[in-house]
Formats: sequence, structure tokens, C-alpha cells
Amino acid sequence: ATPTSIMVGTGRGAEMGVLFRKGEALQSLKDARVVALDKTGTLTQGKPTLTDLETTGGHARDEVLALVASVETKSEHPIARAIVEAAGADGLKLSDLSRFDSMTGYGVSADVGGRRVEVGADRFMEKLGLDVGAFAPFAARLADEGKSPLYAAVDGELAAILAVSDPIKPSTPEAIRALHDLGLKVAMITGDNRRTAQAIARQLGIDEVVAEVLPDGKVEAVRALKRQFGGLAYVGDGINDAPALAEADVGIAIGTGTDIAIEAADVVLMSGSLKGVPNAIALSKATIRNIR
Ligand code: ADP
Ligand code: MG
Repeated sequence: ATPTSIMVGTGRGAEMGVLFRKGEALQSLKDARVVALDKTGTLTQGKPTLTDLETTGGHARDEVLALVASVETKSEHPIARAIVEAAGADGLKLSDLSRFDSMTGYGVSADVGGRRVEVGADRFMEKLGLDVGAFAPFAARLADEGKSPLYAAVDGELAAILAVSDPIKPSTPEAIRALHDLGLKVAMITGDNRRTAQAIARQLGIDEVVAEVLPDGKVEAVRALKRQFGGLAYVGDGINDAPALAEADVGIAIGTGTDIAIEAADVVLMSGSLKGVPNAIALSKATIRNIR
């Protein structure tokens, strides 16, 4: 493309809230064959709420919620905020904690008033040697509704299953339809539960799902999708998306996301709306067509 057409294209992008940080991105986006998107905060609002809590082993709901919320006050994860807010809404008193530990991709733990509390994904409970099988039918039902199940253990015994639900952004269904209309494949990459991810993907018509990836796994997932489909654009908002944004042929960050993701991206969507993704690709195609 000529410098003039790149300038014109970049200007038109800015008018529609799509910031091209590098001219090459405007040229290479037209070659994308697949768009891979992070789930939490990208396809969804990133503001989950607690929807379910069922106890086992004779524990009371409020007792478990207070213990779990006490631990989550120290976590930055969106799930943590959902749990702390739910405890606050129920007027529960939270307790001081010690020995807080966070295992990325698994969950969090701490001592709360002399009790050992562990909260996280099923793979965290498995790591602790706890069997979550008794909750399996309920967990499957929650996941099929697009909710993310997680588990709490108290003093080394399974105490509860919880679920959080993160609403899909209003712009997401239309953005995915527009990507399909442009002839692209759409993939989701997430650390969340596989069954939950598949339920959301089915609802949105997403073609490929890579779920239960550990933080380092997003780059590997991007490489595998590139091998399978060719040119790849990755869309994400979080700190843990930065390596995948850099690995993609074109990295697209949500402007409302973290600075680290924005720094790693070639393109920034000024609003949280995902419509900027198909708009940017269509603009790239139009810009390159004009100069031929
Ligand atoms: P994602 O951001 O896609 O959820 P993460 O790697 O941050 O991926 O987390 C993977 C899973 O680990 C979560 O879906 C959740 O089940 C569990 N997890 C992580 N942090 C917490 C936390 N603070 N409280 C409860 N569960 C957590
Ligand atoms: Mg995210």
C-alpha cells in the first residue's frame, strides 16, 4: 500500500474508534483467516456475579460464603470480586486471614480464623486430592448454562460448589456474525472450564474452543491455531493476554483493558465494543483494494 492510502485508512479507522498503532497492521489484517478471542472481559463483560452456592458435609451456606469471601478479598481475579460482593450484599462479616496464596489458573487459599480455606477450579481440588464427583451432575448443568463452576474446601474437606456467570457483551453476537460474513473462522481461548466455554461458544456460533489453558498456554494455543488456519488476529484485554497479542500476526487490544495488553497490541479498540474487530478487517481489505 502507498503511504497515502495507509494514512487515509488509519484516519478512517480513528473515526470509527479503531486505533492502528502500526501501519503494517492495516496491511496485514486483510490476510487474517481466523480471529481468536479471549473470553473473560473480551467476549464477556468481565464482571461476573455469584449465581449459585450449594454446600456439602453439613456446612451452612453463610458460613462457607463468609470464609470464601474472606480469602477472596486478597485476590484480583474477577471471580473474587463477584464473591466478595455477594457476601457484602448478604451482610456477612468477613474475617482476617493469614498465609494467603494464589495459584494462577487454579485458585486461592488462606487460613481464616484457624480454618484452612481453599477455593478454585476442579483441577485445584484434584491437586488437593479432593473428589468433586458428588457435584458432577450439578456442575455439568451449571456449565451447560454458561456458568463457571468452582469449589470450596474447608479444613481439607470439600465444602461447597459455587458458580459465577459473566454476561456476554451486547456487541459480541453481531461482531461474530460480521466476522463469519467476512469469511473468517472464530476461536475462543480461555482458562475457564471446558464445558462452560463450549456452552458459550455454541450460543455465539464460535467455531473453535481452546479451554482450561494455563496462563502460559495462550501462546501455544495461538501457534496451534496459526498452523491450522493461517493468518491469525488475537483479541484480548488482560495482562495474561499480552504474550498472545505479541505472538499473533495482528494483536488487537480492548481499549478498556489493561495497559499491558494495549502496549503489546498493534491495534486498539477505543471502546469495549467488539464491532471494531470486523470493522478493522473490512477497512484493511478496502484500503489494500483501493491502491491496486
Ligand atoms: P480466566 O481468566 O480465563 O478465568 P485464569 O487462569 O485466571 O483464567 O483462571 C482459571 C480458573 O482458575 C478460573 O476459571 C477459576 O476456576 C480458577 N480461579 C482462578 N483464580 C481464582 C480465584 N481468585 N477464586 C476462585 N477461582 C479462581
Ligand atoms: Mg480477559
